[in-house]
Amino acid sequence: MRRVRVVVRGVVQGVGFRPHVYGLASELGIAGQVTNTGEGVVVEAEGAAAAVDRFCARVASDAPPLAVVESVDVTDLPATGGSGFHIVASRSAGPVRTLVAPDTATCGDCLAELADPADRRHRHPFIACTHCGPRFTIVTGLPYDREHTTMAGFPLCLACDREYRDPADRRFHAQPVACPACGPRLTLVVAGSQDRPVAGDPVDRARELLAAGAIVAVKGIGGYHLACDATDARAVGELRRRKARGNKPFALMAGDPADVAHLVHLDAAERELLTGRVRPIVLLRRRTGAGAAGLPVPAEAVAPGSADLGVMLPYTPLHHLLLGSGGPGLLVMTSGNVSGEPIVTDDDEARERLAGLADAWLAHDRPIHVPCDDSVVRVCDGEPVVLRRSRGYAPLPLTLPVPVVPALAVGGDLKNVFCLAEGDRAWLSAHVGDMDDLATQRAFDRAVRQLGSVTGVRAGLLVTDAHPAYRSGAWARRHAAGRPVARVQHHHAHVAAVMAEHGVPDGRRVIGVAFDGTGHGDDGAVWGGEFLLAGYDGHDRFAHLAYVPLPGGDAAVRRPYRMALAHLWAAGVAPDADLPCVAACPAEERAVLGRQLERGLNCVPTSSMGRLFDAVSSLAGVCHHAEYEARAAIELEAAAVAAGPTDEDPRYAFRLAGRDRAGGVPVTADPAPLLAAVVEDVRLGVPAPVVAARFHAAVARLVRTLSGLARETTGLETVALSGGVFANALLSSACALGLRADGFTVLRHHEVPPNDGGLALGQLVVAARATSRAGTTGPDPAAARS
Ligand SMILES: [Zn+2]
Ligand SMILES: [Zn+2]
Repeated sequence: MRRVRVVVRGVVQGVGFRPHVYGLASELGIAGQVTNTGEGVVVEAEGAAAAVDRFCARVASDAPPLAVVESVDVTDLPATGGSGFHIVASRSAGPVRTLVAPDTATCGDCLAELADPADRRHRHPFIACTHCGPRFTIVTGLPYDREHTTMAGFPLCLACDREYRDPADRRFHAQPVACPACGPRLTLVVAGSQDRPVAGDPVDRARELLAAGAIVAVKGIGGYHLACDATDARAVGELRRRKARGNKPFALMAGDPADVAHLVHLDAAERELLTGRVRPIVLLRRRTGAGAAGLPVPAEAVAPGSADLGVMLPYTPLHHLLLGSGGPGLLVMTSGNVSGEPIVTDDDEARERLAGLADAWLAHDRPIHVPCDDSVVRVCDGEPVVLRRSRGYAPLPLTLPVPVVPALAVGGDLKNVFCLAEGDRAWLSAHVGDMDDLATQRAFDRAVRQLGSVTGVRAGLLVTDAHPAYRSGAWARRHAAGRPVARVQHHHAHVAAVMAEHGVPDGRRVIGVAFDGTGHGDDGAVWGGEFLLAGYDGHDRFAHLAYVPLPGGDAAVRRPYRMALAHLWAAGVAPDADLPCVAACPAEERAVLGRQLERGLNCVPTSSMGRLFDAVSSLAGVCHHAEYEARAAIELEAAAVAAGPTDEDPRYAFRLAGRDRAGGVPVTADPAPLLAAVVEDVRLGVPAPVVAARFHAAVARLVRTLSGLARETTGLETVALSGGVFANALLSSACALGLRADGFTVLRHHEVPPNDGGLALGQLVVAARATSRAGTTGPDPAAARS
């Protein structure tokens, strides 16, 4: 006989772990007990030595679907000879370091019950079990039990209570458990009805409204969506008009991958993402000339000018009911918010803030504790790249390659995500939003408090971007309460984020390629086309795009033709009226802009790659107005994709200066020759897709060339690609292919967004690691080397 104590750590609470242990013990004839404690699930197991061995192996390998086992520690105990196996009440004493699971799509067993007329939960919109349902968005505190969730106000009925207490039941200690007798209730309220719910089945009524072209606000897991029939051009146009978000693509919800197979290309990895437990919005390349006879086709206005369609499958029972037969089979599902504001979660707020946007509200009385937007993922070269890491991912921790002091990194001002970390664990928050909005800042406050209570991390250090005017930075300084506030340069943080994601050990350096729209540079310029020799301990600017004037900051971002004119000016190309970007610029604005560029008035120098994409997009006549972020670049990528494989064109080149980096001055890459070639092609009538494809190839070649130069100088063999520009799958793929052909190891983002949604992780590891080492090492080795 052998007796052991087994401690299982990770996401092991609220996921059916104790029933799993109980079932395994029964099967193997093991005696003992299992309990939840602050450190995880603790088992005492006694039985024949071989059975105990098998038990210890299978406790992790057969773990239930939502569990994430981080470690299993086994220690021997003296045998006591007891019999039977028991689940013992939780002990919440001691440090709380158990992890909450993310919100998870409805499982197959629950779906079967949902569809079974004989089941007591037939068509119950809140069906859930230990393998599925809401978690993160209903947790109000720890330990994770019913009273610390927003289900606290729904006392279990006798039947549910029996399931909840039965270790053999799929609903044993599943906190969201409910049924039609004791669970939350669905209501449908039509605008202008004085909040009186509509009679009849709310789902059926909502489907009728959708079929009739109405816009319905639907309360989901992490917030409200605005839904309409995606095939109804009038409804989609109306939603676009009411949301006032220009041409920004809407996401679709389809019942099944087969419902979109005629619209988009779908490989195995994409299919897996669509149908898996996370259920993010998956960006899928559109088929050209789509439209098989009789199959639903989304209205043009769903995603105008985009090469992709964002598609997700139902992930709540309510979605499954809504998309069931009898209503529209393809819904637009976009975040329920006014453009720029965070997703609405509160019911009163939904009625108020979505008034004027929605014709009806399909709501329920289970509160959402924290907002959690849909995640967005695309597949690049067969591997997922998370572009927005939110529902289904948060709050799963990431493992850091270097231990850090307890710290909070507040991220950037766009696509804000913050990061809490301690030791070798880092938790990225759900997507918060753009910090220039007051409502977003309030959502940020609340999310920081919730993640702090869920993780137990008490940050002794705050970390911000180096930008002096970022609101996230101001928030950190306001809330510092005597704690130090460290600043990390924007592109250094991007590179550190991709390094951390790949577990690059401390002390190693890489060639970091950080391409994005905007980041505060060490010299006060707007950086964004950067080649950094970087480690966690510092960065050295090896090369960058040559500076051009950024005329009038935001105006240049929103009107890419201004960026095209600035680039022409810098390249010494006359802005003749035959060029599309010149024609797009009103004469008066052109005159003012000309004077502004000549005198350098209100012009900050920029090395931004994102702005170069904007400029070329306008020069080629693809996009002159970007009423949503990165529109010009997204449409330029779409154009290049449409061109198909294109040969490199040697005229599309960057002029390199300072190749020997005399005096440590970075190499500069001047796009003047490339711009001249674009102008020449536009005048020759070369189609915009070909220009776009040649431009993409030229940028990929630049990455190869400069990485090669950096290797000659430093011997470094690893290139890390980061920054929002690398959300561009065509560019990312071309860079990786070329670099690998040159013998480089290439690090790209997968779990952490390449855009500013991943910034906080890099900030955190740079600053918290420096603080952890402070006093034990000499001066910054990076500074000493450069
Ligand atoms: Zn389930
Ligand atoms: Zn019940």
